[in-house]
Amino acid sequence: MEFDLISRHFKAPFANLVQSNGKVVLAGIGDDCAALQPSPGHVLFVSTDTLVENVHFFADDPAHLVGWKSLACNLSDLAACGASPLGFTLNLSLPKVDEIWLTGFSTGLLEGATRFNCPLVGGDTTSAGVNTVKTVSITVFGQAPSTHKGFHRAHAQSGDQLWVSGIPGLARLGLLLEYQRRGQLYQHCKPADLQAMDRVLAAMPDPLQRTALGALQQPVPRLGLGVGLRGLARACVDLSDGLGGDVAHIAQASGLSAILSISALMAIWRTCWPALDAREDAEELLDTLVAVTLQGGDDFELCWTAHPNNHDAIQSLKSSLHCVGEVASGEGVWLLQPGCKPTRLISQSYNHFAEPTR
Ligand code: ADP
Ligand code: MG
Repeated sequence: MEFDLISRHFKAPFANLVQSNGKVVLAGIGDDCAALQPSPGHVLFVSTDTLVENVHFFADDPAHLVGWKSLACNLSDLAACGASPLGFTLNLSLPKVDEIWLTGFSTGLLEGATRFNCPLVGGDTTSAGVNTVKTVSITVFGQAPSTHKGFHRAHAQSGDQLWVSGIPGLARLGLLLEYQRRGQLYQHCKPADLQAMDRVLAAMPDPLQRTALGALQQPVPRLGLGVGLRGLARACVDLSDGLGGDVAHIAQASGLSAILSISALMAIWRTCWPALDAREDAEELLDTLVAVTLQGGDDFELCWTAHPNNHDAIQSLKSSLHCVGEVASGEGVWLLQPGCKPTRLISQSYNHFAEPTR
């Protein structure tokens, strides 16, 4: 039955994609090992991530969105290294066989795999018993020319500009909207922040609410951007723990400090919420939005450092790339407000062992 399940949900639906990548996938599902053939002169990049039901996705989330997101968050790690996908494996642990969920999951997974040309080449399917939660582990394999060394976190240099793509914090707003819809916002917001957060969520225009939910449920790994940044960026990470925490990783690994411009972060919110400045409470809302940017998670946008000489080349790669600060000597992450001394950001990024789960 397990072979039948694997064949129906994973081997058959992905067969075309595997076939069209025949030069890369020499052996796939059905063999003891997958065999992948990277291009000559390329280095292999590998990354793995696990999504746990009730932690990374809601039990009642549509299964196709879980499928999409499971692959997208793995591909985002390849993007952060400037690598292109070759294929992936999938390890599923399910409490029981749920055909409807599996069909939806496989559909979303295939949608993402097709869009980013990343064939499924193997995996494992197990159950840890009926009283367990679903877990989805994916390992992605990617490649980049051996002249590209990856964007190591430790490679930032003093004087580099600090960049982000997209709207960091948007996925977090989507999650907060989801909590609000479920009447659980108070469980996931510090009491002191609850009122301000409620105000932001209530003020958000409908289209922005939909974009925020989309950012949460169907994040787009920035693979094209990652490749475009080869030779331009020095250190790069994907944003999964909130900008504050992820920038801290770069600063710490490089033995430097990072200075984030609050007005640059506010400017990003103004681009996606043009009517914001007309509101009387604009300043207050912007303060909350910047806090969301710094603490949010699951954005899967990229954050990188680059020499200022590369500014124009980077800006021309894509719209929605924002220079939000710089790297300097010292340590820690600092927030710069016009006319004020920089203040140090105390790290508040997501910690699986500290915060309540969904
Ligand atoms: P083995 O006993 O060799 O580990 P399995 O019974 O676990 O074989 O799997 C049979 C084949 O199906 C293998 O090629 C494996 O890679 C593939 N496979 C198992 N589960 C999955 C899955 N969830 N997604 C994709 N391929 C899978
Ligand atoms: Mg096995």
